[in-house]
Amino acid sequence: MSDCIFCKIINKDIPAKIVAETPGLIAIRDVNPQAPVHILIIPKKHIPTLNDVTKGDGSIVTDVHFLAQELAKNEGVGEKGFRLVLNTNSEAGQSVFHIHWHLLGGRILNWPPG
Ligand code: AMP
Repeated sequence: MSDCIFCKIINKDIPAKIVAETPGLIAIRDVNPQAPVHILIIPKKHIPTLNDVTKGDGSIVTDVHFLAQELAKNEGVGEKGFRLVLNTNSEAGQSVFHIHWHLLGGRILNWPPG
């Protein structure tokens, strides 16, 4: 998608702080962090929202969770605690319509979220 900011990051057309990259995923530091650890895990496939995920994308979803597990450990929050968040559409606050998971940690994360 030529007008998608995450596709531009995936294609290295615009810079980002990349923390991990696999054939199917990229993980970057969020430009506006909401916690000491705030990483976005982004599938390279342009899927707009969770509503657009199909069973054929199952391995992507699984891979996201294993990468989250690895990154949480690397960032030192695996044992203390972290949160994986996927905002879907407007009432959840999704602002970039290329599916991504927020990995948040490094502080107490309140519940329920706002
Ligand atoms: P969401 O609101 O769930 O769609 O999350 C989008 C996230 O992308 C926000 O937390 C933004 O701060 C973040 N973001 C937007 N543009 C960039 C960028 N160029 N590099 C890193 N993070 C970004």
